[in-house]
Amino acid sequence: MKKNILVIPGDGIGQEVTTWGKKVLEKIAEKYNHEFAFDEAIMGHAAIEVTGNPLPDETLEKAKASDAILFGAIGHIKYDNDPTAKVRPEQGLLKIRKELGLYANLRPILLFDELLDASSLKPEILKGTDILFFRELTGDVYFGEKKRSEDNNFASDLMNYNRYEVERIARKAFEAARTRGKKLCSVDKANVLETSRLWREVVQELAKEYSDVETEHMFIDNAAMQLVKNPKKFDVVLTANLFGDILTDEASQIAGSMGMLASASIGDGTGFFEPIHGSAHDIAGQNKANPLASILSVALMLDISFGLQEEAKTVTTAVADTLKAGWRTGDIANAQTPADKILGTVEMGEKVLAFIN
Ligand code: NAD
Repeated sequence: MKKNILVIPGDGIGQEVTTWGKKVLEKIAEKYNHEFAFDEAIMGHAAIEVTGNPLPDETLEKAKASDAILFGAIGHIKYDNDPTAKVRPEQGLLKIRKELGLYANLRPILLFDELLDASSLKPEILKGTDILFFRELTGDVYFGEKKRSEDNNFASDLMNYNRYEVERIARKAFEAARTRGKKLCSVDKANVLETSRLWREVVQELAKEYSDVETEHMFIDNAAMQLVKNPKKFDVVLTANLFGDILTDEASQIAGSMGMLASASIGDGTGFFEPIHGSAHDIAGQNKANPLASILSVALMLDISFGLQEEAKTVTTAVADTLKAGWRTGDIANAQTPADKILGTVEMGEKVLAFIN
């Protein structure tokens, strides 16, 4: 199979972890006789520094022309400490999601048994957890009108959703539920928000078409609590952009670390694959970042964008084998992990590559 893959490392640890995602793709191409051609582009702070624009036109054109995108992360401490900055790295990410029509963000909470003790939750609560989040990605308060009064004493972000935006992601989530545990939990705040009432109405209507899927509606505050109380009760979770952003970070602790969670953003065109974590200024450039989320993003790319299920399985199995052999990065190590089993980004990436043979 011939594919053109665009790598956008972005900022901070994004640069470090995508190196390993790319190396894994190269190894898979060699093993299974595929031709993956790579190109690279800038985005975020890295792009602002060079062009003044967090998403240069050239990057967008390359993205549209590629078969899949491997993304790292954007963000820089300079902007986190300056909320008044007009040009910001995250504008690039929001724009590329909108331009590529990436309305569905899939976040599997894949729990490796070897990491049961890496979580702050009890192993007996976690064991057997297998959740697939569908987070809406191109609507909600992220894209609504933003205002600040001239006297600087008032600010507002408009939360809005169109019926079609809810329907298209809900359909994808129902379809996925059919192939899994046949359970869908739609998370909203319909007791308070009008957008959530529309959301719930649309999901209720669609649920009639998917009567083989057990559908449940849950308020976001309750879902946040249930997720740590009894994560096993969830199968597919469908939710809006803001709620999904927060819930999936919470869920990352089930998997042990942000450094373990991959995501796929899909729509009608090119798919976009990235770890759920950010640019992590606190550890950037120190060879401390866990590359596994980027490597697992590659598994999602192979499966979802290229339909290469066996190759995807090879990648996830290599990650599982690496963990079974006891190798850990700092974020997934605990007090019992022997010091000589704790690796840096580069060494961890090399271990995974060695398990793909
Ligand atoms: P973060 O995800 O970058 O980091 C949160 C914590 O998790 C940090 O302590 C970090 O060290 C740790 N962590 C994250 N990924 C890790 C990995 N692979 N291995 C080991 N530890 C890891 O979130 P933050 O600190 O809130 O934000 C930092 C910057 O990233 C900000 O500028 C923010 O805007 C940006 N951000 C970008 C994205 C994205 O590009 N998709 C997502 C979230 C945050």
